[in-house]
Amino acid sequence: MGRKILLEHANVPGIKTYEVYRKMGGYASVEKAIKTMTPDEIVEEVKTSGLRGRGGAGFPTGLKWSFLDKKSGNPSHLVCNADESEPGTFKDRYLMEYIPHLLIEGMITSSFALGAKLSYIYIRGEYMWVYRILENAIKEAYAAGWLGKNILGSGYDLDLYVHCGAGAYICGEETALIESLEGKRGNPRIKPPFPAVKGLWQEPTVVNNVESIAAVPWIINNGGEEYAKIGVGRSTGTKLISASGHIKNPGVYEIELGLSVDEFMNSDEYLGGMMNDRPLKALVPGGSSVPILPAHLIYKNAEGGDRLMSYESLSEGGFQTGSMLGSGGFIVYNDTSCIVRNTWNFSRFYHHESCGQCSPCREGTGWLEGVLHRIETGHGREEDIDLLWDIQSKIEGNTICPLGDAAAWPVAAAIRHFRDEFEYHVRFPEKVKNRDHYVAEP
Ligand code: NAD
Ligand code: SF4
Repeated sequence: MGRKILLEHANVPGIKTYEVYRKMGGYASVEKAIKTMTPDEIVEEVKTSGLRGRGGAGFPTGLKWSFLDKKSGNPSHLVCNADESEPGTFKDRYLMEYIPHLLIEGMITSSFALGAKLSYIYIRGEYMWVYRILENAIKEAYAAGWLGKNILGSGYDLDLYVHCGAGAYICGEETALIESLEGKRGNPRIKPPFPAVKGLWQEPTVVNNVESIAAVPWIINNGGEEYAKIGVGRSTGTKLISASGHIKNPGVYEIELGLSVDEFMNSDEYLGGMMNDRPLKALVPGGSSVPILPAHLIYKNAEGGDRLMSYESLSEGGFQTGSMLGSGGFIVYNDTSCIVRNTWNFSRFYHHESCGQCSPCREGTGWLEGVLHRIETGHGREEDIDLLWDIQSKIEGNTICPLGDAAAWPVAAAIRHFRDEFEYHVRFPEKVKNRDHYVAEP
């Protein structure tokens, strides 16, 4: 059995309540931090742990904390990004729904480390029932004296609010999230300045993913060095993976980074292999924004080395033969899946969610969706495949925020690895129209 840090107590009856959570040792990290550590010592501990941002980018959390501009004289803030919207990603929802106090505890310990007295959890609007769970947990934490004025008699005050988004994917981008929190339309800002320097109300702000913040209590209780012993290389600790698609056991799993993709896919402890034992065709390992991998590059990299569940191993080979760990949204496809249809579906999503600020994204995502739709419905032209390639290459790297890249990369990877499937759609439109597809019969 792999080690559990975040989900260790997930199955304890009543763990959602303050009483049971506290009985299981909850809030110990707040006591330890506030009574025995300085904020700088906590930041150092998180740096030592090697924890990397679990939202998708994998940026070192301790390093981000150390960038916080404490000299500005302005108040600093911690904002938890719970706007989990990446297609295929549902691990933060699980954590907040089943162990809400773990996030609240992480927020208090982390806010203390950052000197924040006003912190927020920004949750996606569709998670309304989880919003209520968090509100209730915060109420319990206030009542028990973990939030509010003079926490544990230390003189440290902290207020924590949950703010509900209104259903826009782009508000998960940290600067759009900040704009939205300020009451404005969620348009991403140009970076730099990074939020650590000018964030919420132009004041120094750290934005961290739910899972990153939830890892902090364990790190403070057990030490950064202990955390760094788990995992592999620069991929330290555990990671939540939300697995979906054609597998026997979909769900949310906590894995030790460094587990082989083969074991994760095929052992009964995890995904249990392919549903109905059909052949594996492709994998999106880290949410819809990351490149799709064809079957021959899933268990082994291009050099024949084992592919591991880690930031480094999944990206081995760059975008030519690799992908990314991303947000841990693990989507598995069998031989009945149509890659063209899947790519069109992703493009439709990005086009719909583009905020429209920059033309390569606003126009380009529309073109990607339109051309893919025409190919998928049997109206494609031979030159459309190169046109798609050209459009995605003009979006990548030319936009304000990563949504542009996220729209471009899946299209590039699908053409790179499954060009024959696109060509089939163009050459045999009648078969495509009749759904007499290139793919295997379900
Ligand atoms: P990023 O690499 O631009 O930034 C990562 C973090 O590091 C940010 O908080 C940024 O402010 C900080 N940072 C980087 N350089 C810094 C510097 N010099 N000084 C101070 N701070 C610095 O990536 P991003 O835009 O935050 O995230 C992109 C990722 O988000 C994608 O890879 C995608 O996988 C993921 N994503 C996740 C979801 C989800 O639902 N979980 C949704 C969409 C996208
Ligand atoms: Fe908006 Fe797209 Fe530009 Fe991001 S890349 S700022 S979503 S138009």
